[in-house]
Amino acid sequence: MTKPKPFSINPSHARSFNAKWMPVTESGCWVWMGDVNITTNYGRICVNSRKVGAHRFSFQLHFGELRGDDLVLHKCDNTLCVRPDHLYLGNAADNVRDRTARTKLRQSKLDEMAIIAIFHARKNGSPYHDIQERYGVDSMTVWSIANGKRWIPVLRSAGLVK
Ligand SMILES: [Zn+2]
Repeated sequence: MTKPKPFSINPSHARSFNAKWMPVTESGCWVWMGDVNITTNYGRICVNSRKVGAHRFSFQLHFGELRGDDLVLHKCDNTLCVRPDHLYLGNAADNVRDRTARTKLRQSKLDEMAIIAIFHARKNGSPYHDIQERYGVDSMTVWSIANGKRWIPVLRSAGLVK
């Protein structure tokens, strides 16, 4: 990753920035509708014939000048979001820590979905070997989910067991 360089913003940059995002109601994110770097999925904006990250631009516009080594990170995990209060300043270590935490969160969500899907699959009569193959689990795991013996809080919160 190349280190971003400092840039300065004039009112015409600010106007073109503000014409290029849309609020998304569910998340509150301001989604960038302008140019996007398709490799990184970050928005970008042209400032004095240089491409600048749209989220970096937003941060600087609202909170003041960035140094080249300041990293602008997303609290909302949406790389296209440019809403200033969804952004914060961090360093490379923060970035890695955040990403790890978010990955763990995603994995635990996926697991919950898999547990619920396994429960339904057994109720609908799917054979053990099909379920084991589909979710990469052993027969004991399938049995204990189908019979409400494990992950009870997950099953209970989905209304599948009492
Ligand atoms: Zn956001």
